[in-house]
Amino acid sequence: MTINPHYQDLEQNYLFAVTAQKAAEFSAAHPDKKVIRLGIGDVTKPLCPAVIEAMHRAVDDMAWAETFYGYGPYEGYDFLREAIRGYYGRRGVPLQLSEIFVSDGAKSDIGNILDIFGEDNAVLVPDPVYPVYVDTNIMAGRRVAFSSATEANGFLPLPDPAVKADIIYLCSPNNPTGAAYSREQLKAWVDFANQNDAVILFDAAYEAFIRDDSLPHSIFEVEGARTCAIEFCSLSKTAGFTGTRCGYAVIPAELERGGSPLGAMWLRRQATKFNGTSYIVQRGAAAVFTEEGQAQVKADIDDYLENARVITTALDSMGIWYTGGKNSPYIWLKCPGGMDSWTFFDYLLEKANVVGTPGAGFGQNGEGFFRLTAFGSRKNTLEAVERLRGLL
Ligand code: PLP
Repeated sequence: MTINPHYQDLEQNYLFAVTAQKAAEFSAAHPDKKVIRLGIGDVTKPLCPAVIEAMHRAVDDMAWAETFYGYGPYEGYDFLREAIRGYYGRRGVPLQLSEIFVSDGAKSDIGNILDIFGEDNAVLVPDPVYPVYVDTNIMAGRRVAFSSATEANGFLPLPDPAVKADIIYLCSPNNPTGAAYSREQLKAWVDFANQNDAVILFDAAYEAFIRDDSLPHSIFEVEGARTCAIEFCSLSKTAGFTGTRCGYAVIPAELERGGSPLGAMWLRRQATKFNGTSYIVQRGAAAVFTEEGQAQVKADIDDYLENARVITTALDSMGIWYTGGKNSPYIWLKCPGGMDSWTFFDYLLEKANVVGTPGAGFGQNGEGFFRLTAFGSRKNTLEAVERLRGLL
């Protein structure tokens, strides 16, 4: 037998393991020091009351033969897809129910969608970015080219007509840079994709953090996207579902390649390899889109964004360049004094006992940059910022 040889091509991504280990070693050597973690990419607030109540009711449904649910539809229950359709509709994006596919999260969808594309497609991924886009393609043996995100373009690269691409990944607001595309910038990508018969895989996992009304939450707010884009979204960061697991993909009816509608291919793929998200979780997810649920999750996100404001206000006063933090839980800063990412990591840990994430872990262009997140508590964020002010 043989194994998939492409797994040998993966770079060992030790980023979070190494940062956690270094922080643990520091704590062991200095038990008197309080280490504050601002590298965390997970939420810290519990599920909101509307979700908890809906999930309790759903658990009770499962207790009686009359209201029990077994296998559900592969594409998700209509009650949740209707709720998602309403959410998009309120933003002026009409969707058909059949264009919405519920899943157990954006990470699985983003990896699994590659099943429907040919092996020889050219892939274009921003650098730096969420590592899943690169690794899932390497596993499938595809070539990956990078679009360069830099300080000069505000970490928002635009299409380069000289670079061929069939599958284009975009993430806005971006992880790790927090930078968010404007409507005009997304339009440039949509036009490029339509002209080149490419498909954009648009990751909207952080759309709920957008507070600037001029910025699009969905790529389908941009004209022309229905013939070239698939959108992935998640309730993980929107509503604290990182451990509860629910997301969805939107594939427009018009989106066809090679004569095949991609939505039908995706449904075929899901029906073959996925047996649906649990009924209880889907009931909880539907509660997120009610008026009550929306008010509650917005309050939680506003609170995270206030942490981000605390951090960016301090960076502004220290004259440190950064992106993000305004429409995103991520703050991407330039390491002061020309330090590289890991030197700055060690420096912050040693001198301020603050843990962040070295930018170099997200791609070559991340070297010299550093990611802080707003997912900590207010108390810790304020304390960490005071320590940074004293140090930088
Ligand atoms: N997309 C981006 C950009 C992310 O940062 C994350 C999680 O950190 C995900 C997708 C994964 O989301 P989910 O929890 O729905 O799998």
